Amino acid sequence: MPKTWDQLEVIQPTVLKMLRNSLIRNRVAHAYLFEGLRGTGKKEVGLLLAKSLFCLEPQDGYFPCDKCVNCRRIDNGNHPDFHIIEPDGLSIKKQQILALQEEFSKTGVESKQKIYMIVHADKITVNAANSLLKFLEEPHQQTYAILITEQIQRILPTILSRCQILTFTPLSPKHLIEKLVSEGVEPSVAPLLAQLTNNIDEAMELSKNDWFAQAQKIVVKLYEVLKKNSLEALVSLQDQWFEHFKEKEQLDRGLDLLLLIYKDLLYIQLGNDQQVVFQSEMDRLRQYSLQTTGRSLAEQMSAILEAKRKLQANMNQQLLMEQLVLKLQEGSSFV
Ligand SMILES: [Zn+2]
Repeated sequence: MPKTWDQLEVIQPTVLKMLRNSLIRNRVAHAYLFEGLRGTGKKEVGLLLAKSLFCLEPQDGYFPCDKCVNCRRIDNGNHPDFHIIEPDGLSIKKQQILALQEEFSKTGVESKQKIYMIVHADKITVNAANSLLKFLEEPHQQTYAILITEQIQRILPTILSRCQILTFTPLSPKHLIEKLVSEGVEPSVAPLLAQLTNNIDEAMELSKNDWFAQAQKIVVKLYEVLKKNSLEALVSLQDQWFEHFKEKEQLDRGLDLLLLIYKDLLYIQLGNDQQVVFQSEMDRLRQYSLQTTGRSLAEQMSAILEAKRKLQANMNQQLLMEQLVLKLQEGSSFV
């Protein structure tokens, strides 16, 4: 489903405001580079800009009507004067750029205006980039280019210098959750992923990762053992924890997950159930939240953050975890 102006403006307010001003003042740039992480709406905004430029009856001078023949043809991917170029295999080849130029040397089929959008513009070969450069250097009156990339550092400086660069910001946790669910992630897992990363690719990868699924269970289990006694907690570290969280990055992830459990307990105490990320553990967490105080939770959370800092300073991981376990138990003044 194509996104509307309003929907995209919620996700990327700065970009949409810029484009609206340019459209209203009739000062749309001849070449844009949309850059930002995957899933931040770059392609959708490109389609929207094309619709705004082609729409026969734009509202207030910028808002595409979504009803006219031009809007509908762009939505359906068959407008004769709007072209999308994507990598052919691993790269965008010179032949693709030449074919585009050939096409664009003809007068517009419907109007004089022509727009092309290059997706994954960083995948352009050097030869293709040189051809594109000539194209960007001599813009025809009504030709617009929209280049899209997730890796701006790979775009040649000569191309960068000819584009107006619009940076798409990472999604807020709320929008990332919606996006993850729309890509098939379980609604009960999406909030947890959105707390750990704002990169949709990383979140998608975690959602399919067995190590990560197992990590969640081990972390919840550690929390439960912690509530019993310190000896058992230390045994559990040896039995499971160190086996699973071997590398530094893995341990850091484990500590993040542990921190989120304490955060969840705090949210439950504050009555913010919708903020809880371990949704699938909700019933048990609710029980536990009755057995602790906000003050203990705050102390425990700062102990975990301290452990994360020590990890970054390369403290011995075994020692670090043992100290943490003891601290977490000291802090649990159960009521
Ligand atoms: Zn329209």
